[in-house]
Amino acid sequence: MRTTQLLIGDEWVDSSSGATGVTVDPADGEVIGTFAEATSADVDAAVDAARAGFESDAWRSLTPDARGRLLWRIADLIEAHGTELAELETRDQGQPTFVSTGISVPLAAQVFRYYAGYATKLEGKVSPVSVPDQLTYQRRVPLGVCGLITPWNFPLGIAAWKLAPALATGNAAVLKPAEQTPLSTVRLVELVREAGVPAGVVNLLTGGPDVGRALVAHPGVDKISFTGSTAVGQEIVRASAHDLKRVGLELGGKAPSIVCQDADIDAAVAGNLQGALFNTGQACGAFTRFFVHRSRADEFTAKIAAAADALRIGPGAHPQTVIGPFVSEEHLERVAGYVRSGTEEGAQLVTGGERVDGELARGFFYRPTVFTEVKDHMKIASEEIFGPVLSIMPYDDLDEAVARANATDYGLAAVVWTKDLVTAHTLPPRIEAGTVFVNQLPLIDPGAPWGGFGLSGWGRELGAYSIDEFTESQSVFINLS
Ligand code: NAD
Repeated sequence: MRTTQLLIGDEWVDSSSGATGVTVDPADGEVIGTFAEATSADVDAAVDAARAGFESDAWRSLTPDARGRLLWRIADLIEAHGTELAELETRDQGQPTFVSTGISVPLAAQVFRYYAGYATKLEGKVSPVSVPDQLTYQRRVPLGVCGLITPWNFPLGIAAWKLAPALATGNAAVLKPAEQTPLSTVRLVELVREAGVPAGVVNLLTGGPDVGRALVAHPGVDKISFTGSTAVGQEIVRASAHDLKRVGLELGGKAPSIVCQDADIDAAVAGNLQGALFNTGQACGAFTRFFVHRSRADEFTAKIAAAADALRIGPGAHPQTVIGPFVSEEHLERVAGYVRSGTEEGAQLVTGGERVDGELARGFFYRPTVFTEVKDHMKIASEEIFGPVLSIMPYDDLDEAVARANATDYGLAAVVWTKDLVTAHTLPPRIEAGTVFVNQLPLIDPGAPWGGFGLSGWGRELGAYSIDEFTESQSVFINLS
């Protein structure tokens, strides 16, 4: 049982109202932590503290080299406390251990190291203007106070991929994790302070949507970097219009998977299964719409349904678990509602479609679910479910598959399965998605940008793109005459 506080400037404090929220272990519904529920007065105090931190000598006078070393130290501390962080992520979010230990923690450390290197490489350029006797150059300058709002599916990894570039570029931050999963972020912030980040440069607010809303509305916040649902992203855009805050949005997805006639079906089944069910389908890049060439559809359906059925469901902490619980009862109800709508709209349930009972009944466990006879207009094929629900839809020719894959408001990720080199290179440019994978499950790497077209968001994170996201360009004209 953990009791956590807010970090405002140099102080760990309770909510100014004394209010708290609870977080549960989704594997059994037990309360595992109490967190401080920040008030709007706490948001004001955190933003003021961040402004002071941003302007402090302790932060401004740090050389790029020192800033880089600070980020590197954070990465070392994440690794040194990797087991503890992974256990927190698994208990709070439900992540199977192979995900929390094998991906969330190493990715967080890797992201801090990646941006540690950038701290000394924030170069400007000299512009060849045609006005005589001018030296004109550009520099990248930090934005100021950045509100970093994260979702519940990958709390640690997403906090790291916002915080690391924000710090590498010299900003101050107010971090707001999701109310369902605050614990690993609180621990991360403790480690950030332990690494020696000056007071006020990183602040932490826990609590629900109102805390996020107050951050977005706050005139002292220069940038909101948000990862979460499209509906909330749209609300953030509306709420930030008054002061034209910089806004970065990583939102929902409905990734298509095109399985070509020539695909290696066994490889496609294995990769699609991982891509669809990774973190129990609670992943923005999850493969969900399977356009399978009609000649291979029956084989693909039979194999993927059998493979999905055989996956081990259980608490994330169990080392053999592949499918953990949903983050909450509420989310389970939401996914179950989509499954019911699929059946009602005439899709054919091949496997799954029910909550797990028996000894797992107290947790939020649900069986991986495969549908055939799915039509593109059905809710299960058009809306983000964010759960382990696979819709299989045969197609006859590739032009048709591409058109149907693109017939979505989202555009985060997509995947193509083919053995043909020409198809592997000619199909991705025709697909409207921020990332197209070929013959593999979804990957995230700090070196490659991540983000979406359409309702999947604005901007890109990771790679050099995050440097642009967290800086402005400033031009200087010097009169040399
Ligand atoms: P959510 O939008 O409900 O909440 C995300 C965060 O925003 C939470 O911290 C929440 O407290 C806060 N929030 C809620 N309402 C707010 C408001 N009006 N103003 C400001 N902040 C507010 O999302 P979720 O349910 O936590 O996460 C699931 C969603 O996140 C899915 O749609 C998924 O696709 C998306 N996601 C996208 C990516 C990506 O990289 N594109 C990655 C992970 C998750």
